[in-house]
Amino acid sequence: MKHNESIKCTVEKCKHHCKEDDFCTLDSIMVGSHAMDPKNNEATDCNSFECSC
Ligand code: SF4
Repeated sequence: MKHNESIKCTVEKCKHHCKEDDFCTLDSIMVGSHAMDPKNNEATDCNSFECSC
C-alpha cells in the first residue's frame, strides 16, 4: 500500500495505517493533546486517527 515515508506509525487499528508496514497513508496528520499541560508523549494524540473497526 502507498504510504507516507515521513509519517511512521504503529497504530495498526487506525484505518489510515499502512497494513504492510509501520507507516501512515495520509499526506499529513494533526497531532494534539488531551492534557491541559502535556509533559510526556503519553499526553499527545494523533487527532487524525480513525478506528478501522
Ligand atoms: S492517522 Fe495517525 S494513528 Fe492513523 S495511521 Fe496515521 S499517524 Fe497513525
